Amino acid sequence: MNIHEYQAKAILKQHGVPIQEGILAHSPKEALEAARQLQEQTGTGWWVLKAQIHAGGRGKGGGVKLARSIEDVEKLSSEMIGMQLVTHQTGKEGKKVRKILVAQDVYYPGPVQKEEYYMSVLLNRKTGRDTIMYSPEGGMDIEEVSDKTPELIFKEEIDPGVGLLPFQARKIAFNLGLAGNAFKEMIGFVTSLYRAYRGVDASLFEINPVLKTTDEKILAVDAKVNLDDNALFRHPDLAEMRDVEEEDAAEVEAGKYNLNFVKLDGNVGCMVNGAGLAMATMDIIKLSGGEPANFLDVGGGANAETVEAGLKIILNDPSVKAVLINIFGGIVRCDRVASGVVEAYKKLGNINVPVIVRLQGTNAEQGKQVIDDSGLKVRSAITLQEAAAIVKEVV
Ligand code: GDP
Ligand code: MN
Repeated sequence: MNIHEYQAKAILKQHGVPIQEGILAHSPKEALEAARQLQEQTGTGWWVLKAQIHAGGRGKGGGVKLARSIEDVEKLSSEMIGMQLVTHQTGKEGKKVRKILVAQDVYYPGPVQKEEYYMSVLLNRKTGRDTIMYSPEGGMDIEEVSDKTPELIFKEEIDPGVGLLPFQARKIAFNLGLAGNAFKEMIGFVTSLYRAYRGVDASLFEINPVLKTTDEKILAVDAKVNLDDNALFRHPDLAEMRDVEEEDAAEVEAGKYNLNFVKLDGNVGCMVNGAGLAMATMDIIKLSGGEPANFLDVGGGANAETVEAGLKIILNDPSVKAVLINIFGGIVRCDRVASGVVEAYKKLGNINVPVIVRLQGTNAEQGKQVIDDSGLKVRSAITLQEAAAIVKEVV
């Protein structure tokens, strides 16, 4: 599960990781209040306004703006809230900004130069160990650093039996070129960052930039956190951080029926039971000259209700030109699935794209009979080749 920067920073703070302080605002009025409150708390007179969307690269897209006065806060927040923010991660239609984080400006001038670092914690699946990845070249695109100067990306693997050891934290601070107070601060930063990552069962923590302020403090200026869905049951408070407005509406709807659904860009919708069969079906669609419009696995218990929900979600997509339902009857009987399709079809009414149903397995012949007898515009097939031939015909 993805969460917002302001939520990720709250998690960091709870675990003792120093952060750039900020207050969430849903309107320019709230932004002004937040700015005044931050001024009282931190003494700051400059603020940075940050769009809260589930996508990175906001800075380059105009989603991070510096405000040097209360008037700036008013003007910039009313421009930012409600805007359609386009970044390299949002696609060209962008994402609507519904809330912003009003944060203290931490890039204040001082005698020493400020420095931006990169740091992330993630699981290395090859070694089965958590890994802290870090670089003295933070702030900008880390992908570019890894392309052009891979020697500037360091990795520290953590033994699950003993956890992060003090010498490892020191090595990280050293490789980042730190000394004096900043060196000590970085050791505390890394240690609590790893504790936070473990504490919330995260699959990714990415802090870019980690800032060394001109007065030698180490702060998390940005925070991207992915939580492990399979561990959310252990953290009901974190599960509540989910923001469905940021997720694909069709995927949210599918989740309600326990359907595994992923939206794709093609023109043939497909509904299948079993992930492997779903992949094979997508291949068949491609071989027949179509492009899959989605991945949809209805799971083992395909029934009239799930078939109806799936069909509805698929047909909601205007680019869908045909639907291929491919069910293998193992535990579930094909005639029951067929009745489910017919029922759903009648209920939804007004379906003006061809629906092809391919049933194989237990009671496949009876299932085909149910479809053929229904009098509906549903084409039936028993073999995958037959189904593919019909797809070819209609796309
Ligand atoms: P991202 O572009 O979505 O990764 O958003 P970030 O939170 O990383 O912000 C983008 C950039 O804005 C950072 O790399 C910083 O250089 C800059 N930035 C963030 N906070 C401040 C701040 O308090 N003051 C100033 N002057 N710049 C900031
Ligand atoms: Mn960033």
